[in-house]
Amino acid sequence: MESFVMLLKLKCTVNNYAWGAKGEASMAGSLALDGGHIPNLDKDKPYAEFWVGTHANGPAHVIENGIALKQLLATSPNLQGKHENGKLSFLFKVLSVVAPLSIQIHPTKEQGKILHAKDPKNYPDDNHKPEIAIALTEFELLSGFRQHSQISEYLKLYSEIQELLTEEEKGQIDNLGSYGESSSQVLKLIFSRIWRTPKEQLQIVVDKLARRIQGQENKSALDEIIVYLFTMYPGDVGVFAPIFLNYFKLQPGEATFLEPNMPHAYLKGDCVECMADSDNTIRAGLTPKYIDVESLVEMLNYNETLLPKYIPNELEDGSLLFTPRGIEEFWVQEVKGPAGSIYQLPYSESCSVLTVLYGTATVTVGTTSQTLNRGEVLFIEATHSTERPKVNITDDFLAFRAFTPSPRALDSLSSKHLVID
Ligand SMILES: [Zn+2]
Repeated sequence: MESFVMLLKLKCTVNNYAWGAKGEASMAGSLALDGGHIPNLDKDKPYAEFWVGTHANGPAHVIENGIALKQLLATSPNLQGKHENGKLSFLFKVLSVVAPLSIQIHPTKEQGKILHAKDPKNYPDDNHKPEIAIALTEFELLSGFRQHSQISEYLKLYSEIQELLTEEEKGQIDNLGSYGESSSQVLKLIFSRIWRTPKEQLQIVVDKLARRIQGQENKSALDEIIVYLFTMYPGDVGVFAPIFLNYFKLQPGEATFLEPNMPHAYLKGDCVECMADSDNTIRAGLTPKYIDVESLVEMLNYNETLLPKYIPNELEDGSLLFTPRGIEEFWVQEVKGPAGSIYQLPYSESCSVLTVLYGTATVTVGTTSQTLNRGEVLFIEATHSTERPKVNITDDFLAFRAFTPSPRALDSLSSKHLVID
């Protein structure tokens, strides 16, 4: 007997943070327009983030009947697997960045609870927010602390910063990178001192450093980024960030995973992002908004990180599955193919949402089918059977399927055969 599986198109939200690309130049905005999520694009307005999820700050609705997806899931538990709990545990986004986002970290689950209880205005929920970002265009970012020995060199090269340190702290610069664990302690000491400096004093040193570099004839790549950040955020402590953090570019298709307390700032480009269902951010600079310096310096992970590129799993059919370790809330599957190809999604104990970046395809399960075009978002209920959704691609297609892996699938991460539901 053929089964009936719910395939529902969703209407999603876009937000207009100032760092977003404007009008048609925004991939997030044009996807939202093409998918029917917004009625038009204003050429002077930034379209920063397209949100697919059930978070209160940008909830999705079922197009057919206008019901909030969150409400539908709460009242129809059969649409999800047993391991899901009446909502989407993840938030899937498309970002179009033209100006730097604030430098930030996100809390662990335990820290999220404490922060939310203490300050619900700045920390809107009690969750953690690990993130994976997959580049759609060349994507520039800062992420993770550099090798400590390199930070030590840069603190000497950009010596103005030392004006913010005590004599004792200056004496510790040479110890960065020289003795493992405690090197992180030295970095914490130096970083905390700089970030705790009163604003007026900070501004003077930021300006002095940036103007000296601006006047230089030959600029290194690092000089250029510092000057760029200075022109965007004059006087902001975040102008120092590239001296401490890895600067790198992801090429389209490449990904990075941002663990709790890993400092990062997106600078430029388009990406898709998937994260636990949360909006908890502790800012560290490049922002006119409130910086919670004390939480920041206590929570930061000061260890050195190599470029944290994330390598996805390649499945038997050649498709890619992103399964960041230690994360229960989300996996992301890339669904990609030329016109004429047929793609089978896995049988799944979990519900999922499929967001189309380009192309056209018809998704069929049992007696139900939906044709999807660019920008459209499809909710697929947990199939609870061996039925696999079939994707008939009629125009060169790229979509991402986000879902919450079942405990069985999570277990399979440690074995050879990845179970992809
Ligand atoms: Zn972030």
